Amino acid sequence: MKKTFAALLFAACAVAACGEASSESRGWLPSGLPPAPSEGPALCIRDFLAPEQGADVLAQAVERFPDRGAWDEYAALVRRRIQEGAGLAPWPRRTPLSPIVHSRREFDGYSVENVALETIPGFFATGNLYRPLGRSGPRPVVLSTHGHSRAITKPEDWAVHGRFSATAQTRAAALARMGAIVFAIDMLGYGDGIVQVGQEAHRTELAMPVHVWNGIRAIDFLTSIEEADTGRIAVTGESGGGTQAFLLAALDPRVSVSVPVVMVSSYFFGGCPCESGRPIHRSADHFVNNTMIAALAAPRPQLLVSNGKDWTQRAPEVDLPFLRHVYGLYGAAGTVANVHLPDEGHDYGPSKRAAAYRFLAARLGLDLASVLDDAGAVDESTISVQPPERLRVFDESHPLPVHAAGSAEAVAAGLASIQRYAP
Ligand SMILES: [Zn+2]
Repeated sequence: MKKTFAALLFAACAVAACGEASSESRGWLPSGLPPAPSEGPALCIRDFLAPEQGADVLAQAVERFPDRGAWDEYAALVRRRIQEGAGLAPWPRRTPLSPIVHSRREFDGYSVENVALETIPGFFATGNLYRPLGRSGPRPVVLSTHGHSRAITKPEDWAVHGRFSATAQTRAAALARMGAIVFAIDMLGYGDGIVQVGQEAHRTELAMPVHVWNGIRAIDFLTSIEEADTGRIAVTGESGGGTQAFLLAALDPRVSVSVPVVMVSSYFFGGCPCESGRPIHRSADHFVNNTMIAALAAPRPQLLVSNGKDWTQRAPEVDLPFLRHVYGLYGAAGTVANVHLPDEGHDYGPSKRAAAYRFLAARLGLDLASVLDDAGAVDESTISVQPPERLRVFDESHPLPVHAAGSAEAVAAGLASIQRYAP
């Protein structure tokens, strides 16, 4: 019996060792990378690569991953490295979200509520829930993430800030009018997050894990809604919100459609700690640029929206062909698309929203006609942009819960507490 146990133990160790060796062999570092720092995390910040270096990494990856087996192995390794690099290994425990939902208002074809979810003990992911009116049957869900805006220094800044901006409100409301249940979520230290942790908390290494975890828990919330269709889940956002979109699609297999806008690039890695402040792109045995992270969504439908004036300017020639290669390994080259607007800039403006509506309508089964005029053009005139004070979750009538964490440090401690298993 003892002998058998020893033999089993040896076999288990051999398997573990074999697994380790195999894990190393699955790793990949392209040639020609800038040297990694001699100490500290291997961060890839902003334009860490030149445009031609970014394209070369993708060309090398096409050679290295010529078939689905090779890509799937590397993709599994990269997902683990991103989770670890983002500070989310082990995955936190899911704790009760205890949603705070109030101030429901009805508009033309949709309603809006102000919502907080306790995604981390003492910390609340905040946003607005847009729901369709007059629709029957299961509804697709969409998480809407926003990009960076300048710090709030005067009252008028609120109207162009994060989820309160006209562009963020309009796309969430339009998608609800089309039949989706949409949650427009704050970044850390934005919107209602400001009263929780202050604006400065955003530019810390807490932002990335909080964004990923908030996204996962926001999907838990959306799919818990009675009318939600748990098989149709999309995420879309621009710039830093685009980073949130492709990271969430990479890490959460429930995301069935993604639309990252003006962000996916082979050479630009994002300039904020929420995008590049943690070592997700590079370790001792992996390297990915953001185009490769976006490819982790394959074969799930994805639309890249790009423009001629930022780091997405090479999308049609560089990023889309790489994504088509990876999607093609699954026989799904047709489910990834790019709308490129060479004369436009870095925003989620009307023509970019129109592209997203059309793609999401086709992929989620939404009612595109509800946002079209008689000539077939997108018409957002039915949307009612609200003043920020109407959209806030926490105000004098709805104060922050008494147990709320009062600082980024306290939120970090709360996150760590749910990454430890209870004794
Ligand atoms: Zn950021």
